[in-house]
Amino acid sequence: MQQNRAVTAETQTPVCSARGCRRKAEWMLHWRNPRLHGPERVKRWAACDEHVESLRSFLTARRFPCETVKLDD
Ligand SMILES: [Zn+2]
Repeated sequence: MQQNRAVTAETQTPVCSARGCRRKAEWMLHWRNPRLHGPERVKRWAACDEHVESLRSFLTARRFPCETVKLDD
């Protein structure tokens, strides 16, 4: 299993990755680009409730493997 909270070293409260959005993240997207990354190289995007769908469709439109994890605070 992936850890929910491995975000960045300097912040405890992840902020949404969408451009210009400063909201607290409610979700974490775990994804990778299979053309560039091996299975162990998982990228993480934080997302608020408003942007989780658009970030997720960005990834799924490119057929990147993508897993959505709820952050529970
Ligand atoms: Zn957002």
